[in-house]
Amino acid sequence: MQNAQSATNPDVGGRRGAVLRSGTVEAPAVLVVEDDATIGESLAAVLRGEGYDVRLVTDGGSALAEAEAAVPELVLLDLGLPDVDGLSICRQLKMRFASTRIIVVTARADEADVVVGFDTGADDYVTKPFRLAELLARVRAQLRKPAPEKESDSITVGDLCVDRRSRRAFVGDEEVELRPKEFDLLALLASYAGSVVTRERIMLEVWETDWLGTTKTLDMHVSSLRKKLAASSVKITTLRHIGYRLDE
Ligand code: CA
Repeated sequence: MQNAQSATNPDVGGRRGAVLRSGTVEAPAVLVVEDDATIGESLAAVLRGEGYDVRLVTDGGSALAEAEAAVPELVLLDLGLPDVDGLSICRQLKMRFASTRIIVVTARADEADVVVGFDTGADDYVTKPFRLAELLARVRAQLRKPAPEKESDSITVGDLCVDRRSRRAFVGDEEVELRPKEFDLLALLASYAGSVVTRERIMLEVWETDWLGTTKTLDMHVSSLRKKLAASSVKITTLRHIGYRLDE
């Protein structure tokens, strides 16, 4: 029965894990982000027992690096991380890897409202302490969901098209050559076209820092983007002391 399953949409669970390990279907890659070693290791062991290909990291920076190295199908993301706010990691993961499902694990029930109500991109959440059976059911449910439409990977604003999957940007038919951070910045601004994106948020999501001591790097990237987008119908508007907005 597993042979008929698509590798991108496997229905994995329980005893079927053994079938996965035999190599008939590639095991879905699950990235566990949890700074509590006891919880993280036991979670990873249980998921491996279910047949998933599990990687475990203990901070947000490593989570992004691991996802960059091999894009996971699903991320179990603890919100209380030592280095970066978990919600920021959640947004960054979704921005870069639109097809990755994210289940947020939070210690506080009231945080759950923020997770589902805000633009974090989280697909689901569980609150600590959670029952393993419930968590595994949610993991299975996420992996059963069909992959998001391809359209969600690209953003069109005026004559600008930003394709997050291939990390390329076009003005009309012309490709705009962008450095990696320029692409991240443009993708972030484009995904909130018409709305202001604060400098704090840009520093967090593009440069992965909340250090605002100098944002000269940001200003330089904006200036470079403006030159590269000179022929486009979109423009980057500066809101002094606040942030930037991409306008059509
Ligand atoms: Ca934690």
